Amino acid sequence: MSGKKDIVIIGSSFAGLTAAFDVKRLIGDRTEVTVITKSPLFTFIPSLIWYTQGWRQQQDITFALEPAYQKRGIKTVVAEAIAISPEQGIVHTTKSNVPFDYLIIATGPYWNFEAITGLGPHHGHTQSICNLEHAQSSRQAWIEYLKNPGPVVVGAAQGASCFGAAYEFVLNIEQALRREGLRQQASVSFFTSEPFAGHFGLGGVGKSKQLLPKFFAQRGIEYKENIAIESITEDTIHFNDGSKLPFKYAMIIPPFKGTEVVRNSPGVGNTMGWVEVEGTYRHKTYPNIYAAGVAVAVAPPQQTPIPTGVPKTGYMSEVMGRTAAHNIAADIKNEKPVLLPPTELPALCMLDAAKGGILMSVDKLYPDKRKREILLPSYAIHAGKIAFEKYFLWKCRTGRTNLP
Ligand SMILES: Cc1cc2nc3c(=O)[nH]c(=O)nc-3n(C[C@H](O)[C@H](O)[C@H](O)COP(=O)(O)OP(=O)(O)OC[C@H]3O[C@@H](n4cnc5c(N)ncnc54)[C@H](O)[C@@H]3O)c2cc1C
Repeated sequence: MSGKKDIVIIGSSFAGLTAAFDVKRLIGDRTEVTVITKSPLFTFIPSLIWYTQGWRQQQDITFALEPAYQKRGIKTVVAEAIAISPEQGIVHTTKSNVPFDYLIIATGPYWNFEAITGLGPHHGHTQSICNLEHAQSSRQAWIEYLKNPGPVVVGAAQGASCFGAAYEFVLNIEQALRREGLRQQASVSFFTSEPFAGHFGLGGVGKSKQLLPKFFAQRGIEYKENIAIESITEDTIHFNDGSKLPFKYAMIIPPFKGTEVVRNSPGVGNTMGWVEVEGTYRHKTYPNIYAAGVAVAVAPPQQTPIPTGVPKTGYMSEVMGRTAAHNIAADIKNEKPVLLPPTELPALCMLDAAKGGILMSVDKLYPDKRKREILLPSYAIHAGKIAFEKYFLWKCRTGRTNLP
């Protein structure tokens, strides 16, 4: 027995990786830190908007987790966590049972393709770019599409979160068609479950309600808003208002819910599988369990006619991971925790439009709590996003998660 506390983290993306390096840095002498991750790679997910077109390869936007963790004395278990026994303090994985004194759940979302007939790359007719594997399938489908082009449809389904990714993808794929000399042969359409384009699950940011339609008009992109998918057949999307969109290539952000490991662990998540936490990111029932990132339950600030999820961005996920790590260290050292509820988190996003883009920044997630919101279209955004990609990958690979 080392007498050290076992801190276990499930998931190793924006939230989990930040929490792992931070907790090790803060209190490494008194803890053993273990990360359970399904994937041996860290993927910079924001760059998946460029993968389909061949503008990024796997090696440009990923790195191996185990060597990065090993350098900082963090253990890696490459396995899927299948259930959590909170009372016993055990995570059951496909490889072994991992005991914990403190647990951080940072498993992100489950992409609920099954909720809509015909949706998704596995059992349906549409593509996704939500993770590397989806993006690889999306790339293959795009290569095939280029041999026989036709209408392109991009959208966000009912219950989706992360609308920014859908906007970025449609603007980038439209640009890719121009570069291929195919824009005349291919209509580009967008649809969203948001009440209006530019809502983002948040009621909008600054003048986003005016700006997004302007971006679409400049690029000849037709769009539908406040709409839900009924079903998808081989080449057509059928909507709840009776309208249809034919497609040769479609990428649709699916509905989100909590991950299987949370849903398989009674008492850990709510009915949707999201983890309910205090403003310290500590579980509402189990004081030694924390959650961070997309896995955390955040209620939408307002009801929308078609269900939409709140965006839990990469930046927010990182801050949640950092706060959870800080508060576990504080608990071990008998210090006061930091309170930073998700609804009061700042959000920062660069929405890339292939040529230029939009900087979005709010000081608080919920509109009624905000004092500052910035929405700035600029040609510098595309270059800024590329610079940020390189910086962020370096920062994470080298464990410097304490940097901004
Ligand atoms: C295409 C796209 C573009 C985006 N662009 C931006 C952007 O520009 N800016 C921005 O701020 N945000 C962006 N986002 C959102 C951002 O990617 C997410 O906010 C962020 O990835 C959330 O981090 P997370 O750690 O909470 O979860 P995730 O990134 O979803 O990671 C969860 C991890 O947990 C692992 N996991 C899940 N279940 C288990 C299990 N049972 N056992 C072991 N491991 C498990 C998964 O494999 C995954 O690696 C984008 C999202 C997408 C899809």
